Amino acid sequence: MNIQQNPVEKNVTVMEYVSCNICESCQYDLVYQIDVNYNVMRYYRYARNIPNKENMTGTFSIVRCKRCRLLFTNPRFIHDAQASVYSSNRILGGNWKNFMYLFDQAQNDECQDLNNEKLLHPDYGWKFDIIRDYAPGKEKTSLLDLGCGTGHFVLQALEQGFDAWGVDISQDRIRYAQQTLKLEDRVQHGKIEEAFPNRTFDIITLWDVIEHIHDPKALLNSLKQVAHSQTHIFVLTMSIDSITYKLFRKRWNYINPTQHLFYFSDSTIRELFARSGWELLGKTMDDSRSKNFLRLLTKVIIGQLNNFFFQVYAPISSKFKIFKPLFKPLQKKISDERMQKRLENLYPGMYVGRYHDNFVFIGRLKAKT
Ligand SMILES: [Zn+2]
Repeated sequence: MNIQQNPVEKNVTVMEYVSCNICESCQYDLVYQIDVNYNVMRYYRYARNIPNKENMTGTFSIVRCKRCRLLFTNPRFIHDAQASVYSSNRILGGNWKNFMYLFDQAQNDECQDLNNEKLLHPDYGWKFDIIRDYAPGKEKTSLLDLGCGTGHFVLQALEQGFDAWGVDISQDRIRYAQQTLKLEDRVQHGKIEEAFPNRTFDIITLWDVIEHIHDPKALLNSLKQVAHSQTHIFVLTMSIDSITYKLFRKRWNYINPTQHLFYFSDSTIRELFARSGWELLGKTMDDSRSKNFLRLLTKVIIGQLNNFFFQVYAPISSKFKIFKPLFKPLQKKISDERMQKRLENLYPGMYVGRYHDNFVFIGRLKAKT
């Protein structure tokens, strides 16, 4: 391990070592060392709004528990350091698929900004399809979206006839949800038990949440307080049983130790559920409509183009002015400064979208014995 570069050595208050979240073992093997620096595109996107971001660069480690095989980031950011990231007013998730955005003068530079309405209305129809498959609705099925962010899923769930509610740790996003989406008291900031005391929900959803949480076992345990015997939980996360992980390993898009603290598989999710009082009922693909090869290929090509612009185009055109005329025709009327900003919004080279790599795991409370 490179001690000089390790973030722990730079600032002891930012990082922590942890034992396995599932089985509590302290025995683990080093699997990957990931260099997080300003030249890593996904770090670029992520780091823009973070104060003291120099503390957040260095060599990170991803380890595997010797006992239960859980793959996790260790050491990792402490909770407060991570929270400062999620309280940023920019959206950190989402994707920007079309590289032509780089050269289109008419596009908004802030493609991930909260104020850019157009990009924040994904169609969540497939999520409702999965929910209805497992939990066919009675009249006014109640639904809690944990980690609801800007509240778009809660809004669509209401439109779909659910009695929908949401909770999130980001004050900014809850404010957006309450004011801009007019969700008012349907979305709350803070902890689940405090936001919704003394009530239960039929459905609890965690979309892209569990891999970011510091203590998934404690979170799933705490869900029991807002669950009844027939409550179903829907947990979406990327899986290391996926084809794309097996193909790309360390270069897999989701290997991102600054944000992703856990990399689950079928067996570790099952174990996590079991140890927090839930029974795994099944798993399903998160987007059945994107299962075609052409879409995978397009995403690989776009990913490589993104990579080219970030790794080759940007450094050359900014450092070697002599090459600039070669690239200038592509830029139309976009200044270097805007170009740089747009490059920061792009996804890294190995991004292949949600092709067989994200799954929804469905669980129900374990029957009392
Ligand atoms: Zn373990």
